Amino acid sequence: MPSAIRSYASVNDDIAADGPIGDPMDAVTVRAHELAEAGRLPAFVYDLAALDEHAAAIRDALGDVELYYAAKANPDPELLRVLARHVDGVEVASGGELAHVLGVLPEVPIAFGGPGKTDAELVAALDAGVARLHVEGPGELRRLIATGREADIMLRVNLAVSLGDVALAMGGGATPFGMDPDGVTACLELLNRQEAVRLRGVHAHLASGLDAERMLQVNERVLDHARSLGVTEINLGGGMAVSYADPDARFDWAAYGKGLAGLRRSGETLRIEPGRSVSVYCGRYVTRVIDVKRVHGRLFAVVAGGTHHIRTPATKGHSQPVIPGTPGEPITISGQLCTPKDQLAENVPIALEPGDVVEFAMAGAYAWNISHHDFLMHPHPEFHYL
Ligand SMILES: *Cc1c(COP(=O)(O)O)cnc(C)c1O
Repeated sequence: MPSAIRSYASVNDDIAADGPIGDPMDAVTVRAHELAEAGRLPAFVYDLAALDEHAAAIRDALGDVELYYAAKANPDPELLRVLARHVDGVEVASGGELAHVLGVLPEVPIAFGGPGKTDAELVAALDAGVARLHVEGPGELRRLIATGREADIMLRVNLAVSLGDVALAMGGGATPFGMDPDGVTACLELLNRQEAVRLRGVHAHLASGLDAERMLQVNERVLDHARSLGVTEINLGGGMAVSYADPDARFDWAAYGKGLAGLRRSGETLRIEPGRSVSVYCGRYVTRVIDVKRVHGRLFAVVAGGTHHIRTPATKGHSQPVIPGTPGEPITISGQLCTPKDQLAENVPIALEPGDVVEFAMAGAYAWNISHHDFLMHPHPEFHYL
């Protein structure tokens, strides 16, 4: 798997003691320093060439399995245009995402999912001719049937599988996502009484943060369930693991593709819809140090911007990985917001001075687009694409 990013400084890393940045500077770092000199930080810098290569490798590993990209991970139009070369479609989770994605990629096949679809969103999806509607439960199906329109649907199932220690659980127990076997039975009864809404298959997105082996175990359970219902089209969801603590530990797409090829029976259409594992590596959030201070013994660097631009470390409770610089006393990097939650990384073993550039890696997914941009009314970052 190509690696967009050389190496990282995080709490547990030993930093090579051979000076700042390492050698040679990569293209994103070069751009970061140009932006710093021009006084244009903070900024998100996306490496579209790296994204292109990464998506091509995922596509290669998947063989016959269809690949949809979950737009909610990062719906940036530049990223969507690159991904369109490699994916079979895009999964959207709201009327807003639907309109946005169709605005950027008018021809792309769409799967429309998400809990809490309004009647207006259902009609918008049908008007747009989405390839698949992912139905979340009998109530939603009743409203869909009531439109009198034709539709091709997947039932989103929430199976009672043991997921263990995962980053986020959307299923495997009582959650508002999808339906349990009773819900499936209710939907099948509704579907049997009419013809306009056609059952195409089953959709499951049970957890986020599964490695290839565990993903395949969960997928196998979903396939068993789909086969018991007699459907041959199965969307196995997203949630492929990424590691913010060890950015080089990538999801094993080759093993996953092989595993899926082994699970798939002839005549079956398998589809996945990952988001984070596709786009996370291609983006960096780049900023500069405003102030360095010691408070009650602890060293802090306050940078321009913060979690209102990249909320990821606050929502996940992690340290965002930092591209290494000159080794130094562990320093905690915080942003400009007046809240202790505005912490980007803790105890990073690099030397920082006011004016220094700091590059946060793995900022290509669930970063800018999940952040509370206008809290404290600081300026928005710039966006740059390589
Ligand atoms: C968020 C989501 C995805 C993508 O999940 P990642 O963890 O980003 O891969 C896929 N499918 C559904 C239904 C989702 O809600």
